[in-house]
Amino acid sequence: MGDTIFGKIIRREIPADIVYENDEVLAFRDLNPQAPVHVLFIPKLALATLNDAQESQAALLGKLLLAAADYAKREGFAERGYRTVINCNEDGGQTVFHLHVHLLAGRHMQWPPG
Ligand code: 5GP
Repeated sequence: MGDTIFGKIIRREIPADIVYENDEVLAFRDLNPQAPVHVLFIPKLALATLNDAQESQAALLGKLLLAAADYAKREGFAERGYRTVINCNEDGGQTVFHLHVHLLAGRHMQWPPG
């Protein structure tokens, strides 16, 4: 896949407000937050979309979600609740083609989404 803005954040070529990092996952605040808490969890491995994930990457996908849940617990809003979202391709509203999980919290979320 081609490089994206998130690749540049991983390589520290552009700044981001990083809130969590391990060998495989990086998390940083969204530049245009849609809730009081809006953090993006990305794999350091460059996968463009959820469609590109392979069976061999199942554990990595799980780690993204677990990192989001751990963050929610650590920050104290896990019990109150939050939303995780993965947008895929055009109809999903994806704009950055490096797989990411949105973690949104701090306000009541509506369902269905717009
Ligand atoms: P998508 O629409 O692809 O699911 O989500 C991409 C998200 O990345 C958007 O919520 C957008 O605000 C965020 N974003 C785009 N460029 C940057 C950036 O340079 N830095 C950060 N922190 N977030 C970005």
